[in-house]
Amino acid sequence: MIVREIEARSLVTKTRVPAADYCINPYIGCPHRCVYCYAEFMKRFTGHSEPWGEFVDVKHCAKKINAAVYAGRSVVFSTTTDAYNPLEKQYGVTREALSAFAGSKVRVSVLTKSDLVLRDIDILKKCADAEVGFSMATVDDAFRKKIEPGAPSIAKRVNALRVLREEGIKCHVFVSPIFPEITDYKAIIDMCAPYTSEFHFENLNLRGSFRPRVLDLVARVDRRLLPFYDDIYRLRIGVYWDALEKEIIACCAERGLKCVSYFYHERIRK
Ligand code: SF4
Repeated sequence: MIVREIEARSLVTKTRVPAADYCINPYIGCPHRCVYCYAEFMKRFTGHSEPWGEFVDVKHCAKKINAAVYAGRSVVFSTTTDAYNPLEKQYGVTREALSAFAGSKVRVSVLTKSDLVLRDIDILKKCADAEVGFSMATVDDAFRKKIEPGAPSIAKRVNALRVLREEGIKCHVFVSPIFPEITDYKAIIDMCAPYTSEFHFENLNLRGSFRPRVLDLVARVDRRLLPFYDDIYRLRIGVYWDALEKEIIACCAERGLKCVSYFYHERIRK
């Protein structure tokens, strides 16, 4: 892992992600090394030629965050990295940035795969409407090791969810990405519903350069799935996801759970 410390002009940037106005990514790169990571495009903008997952730039910023500027707006941590990746233990850039919003009128949310977020419960409690989302694509930790080799186990994430709930911090589970015929979204709901009643869903995106890597992994899980993936992503584009999204919405409604869908419906280029 190549780690560099860099000076950033600002830690807060505008975002086009649907659920927030601004984002904070305290690191460039991510040691969680998820095979499906769409954030690899960041290499193009940051001059990195190393493989994604093998470098991290730690951002320092002389300009301190002035929370008053973002009053009434929402800020999300972790759109192109995991703000609670293992380097955060040492550098604390996320903790410092989060502290800037304590006592402010900024709605802060954090998306992570890491129980390291528990370290910052004290600050989260001081932030207005703070919310933590835990991403999970599976309940099977053997599969998790294949797709997210550098990330904490599923058990650690569920335990962190439990602790945050006990501490009164709003949480949701981000069921993402949904691997067709592999991700058992109902099992994830069953496992996490005792600790949250809000679930977000996103389908597996194969539009990036990571497509061959993901398909290779799917083949290693079960080669017979490949024609099925070809059908979903090339031949009957959209049909599978439309049906699955309806099924998920119905499942959540039946169980009285809040369901937020981030399924993409654009037609995938051949
Ligand atoms: S945790 Fe998020 S940013 Fe990090 S490698 Fe995984 S998908 Fe990419």
